[in-house]
Amino acid sequence: MTGFALDAAQRQFVEHVRELATRHLLPLTHGAEDGAGRVNRPLLAAMGEHGLLRGLFGGAPEEPPTDAAALRLCLLRETIAAVSTEAETALALQGLGSYPILQSGRPETVRRWIPGVVAGRTVAAFALTEPDAGSDAAALALRAEPVADGWRLHGEKAWISNAPEADVYTVFARTTPGAGARGVTAFVVPGDAPGLSGEHLDLLSPHPIGLLHLDGVRVGLDDVLGEVDAGFRVAMRTLDLFRPSVGAFAVGMARAALDATLEHVSTRQAYGGALVEQQAVAHSLASMATLLEASRLLVYAAASAYDAGAPRGEVTRRAAMAKLFATESAQQVVDQCVQLHGARALQRGHLLERLYRDVRAPRIYEGASEVQRSVIARELLEERSTR
Ligand SMILES: Cc1cc2nc3c(=O)[nH]c(=O)nc-3n(C[C@H](O)[C@H](O)[C@H](O)COP(=O)(O)OP(=O)(O)OC[C@H]3O[C@@H](n4cnc5c(N)ncnc54)[C@H](O)[C@@H]3O)c2cc1C
Repeated sequence: MTGFALDAAQRQFVEHVRELATRHLLPLTHGAEDGAGRVNRPLLAAMGEHGLLRGLFGGAPEEPPTDAAALRLCLLRETIAAVSTEAETALALQGLGSYPILQSGRPETVRRWIPGVVAGRTVAAFALTEPDAGSDAAALALRAEPVADGWRLHGEKAWISNAPEADVYTVFARTTPGAGARGVTAFVVPGDAPGLSGEHLDLLSPHPIGLLHLDGVRVGLDDVLGEVDAGFRVAMRTLDLFRPSVGAFAVGMARAALDATLEHVSTRQAYGGALVEQQAVAHSLASMATLLEASRLLVYAAASAYDAGAPRGEVTRRAAMAKLFATESAQQVVDQCVQLHGARALQRGHLLERLYRDVRAPRIYEGASEVQRSVIARELLEERSTR
């Protein structure tokens, strides 16, 4: 028994999720067909119906959720990713978009939006990035102009998952010019708010994503998530929860790739035997399995630290390490699995072809790998200075 072995209830949860995803979600995914890259509402409704979106936040089924459990989120994401990356992404985006509301919304805001999100009726989105503020999110410029009883929002958001189709957005806007991270406020904005529009963007791998234009969108004091000028904290707390789970997504993809490769090299005949009889091939499998296991342990450790309420610095450092290592490792594993499959992996529609495209984005979003390294180094130095 290791420090991070799953207990019987967790293993049962994983089995249950795998079964639900295979039986009820996979048939509703678009794959490479028309509609891929757009919000898949029937898929979200099925996730709601089978309690999978509820699982994002945990808690008793009949109660409104109160907070999220990171390890549970990781197990959900890893398990669903190994069945369908499209279903996994749809689930994760609901969580990313709505967690700021659950975490920092007023009770009436939570009551208005969260039940629809967990039922799969209300599509949520997290709008932080702008054309001129990506990794350097504290430079965001979307302007909140003060007016009687609130603000009007003016500006653009870019690369926003689920935009422009979402029903509710968490929008981060500049309430105090020149104050960097200390002058940003998080607002909840309904998808049909006057002055809000947007368009789709097409990516290498199908993903519902787009631009948002805010042209004088009206928000009031009740629409603030958390406190005025403290929105950056809302964003960072959300990323502390979601970063390990991006690692879990990567682990799920790498596992799907490795499982397919184990099968392939065991059955593919070459040089009078199975391909796996070549020692270089067997060693490659061993290296990939080791990367995968190390990734999984970092992800579980980071999620467990979050759930145990470990000090903020430790949570942030572990989350960054898990995301960094798992996403970089998954890229290597998927690439090597393509290699071991040979030409067939490149054929449109092959599992590896899809994974090869899907595995790329997580090294960029929710903090690029370089940003994770900077976060880890900053936390190490901070820890040293307080020793
Ligand atoms: C599939 C996908 C989904 C997304 N979904 C959302 C979403 O739902 N909501 C949202 O707000 N945003 C979303 N994004 C945007 C994402 O968060 C940004 O792309 C990311 O923060 C990087 O910003 P950028 O693309 O502008 O790159 P830039 O900030 O311009 O950085 C470009 C590159 O420069 C390097 N770099 C950056 N900073 C450093 C540094 N400090 N040190 C060393 N090198 C560095 C890295 O290699 C980085 O990839 C999504 C992006 C993708 C691809």
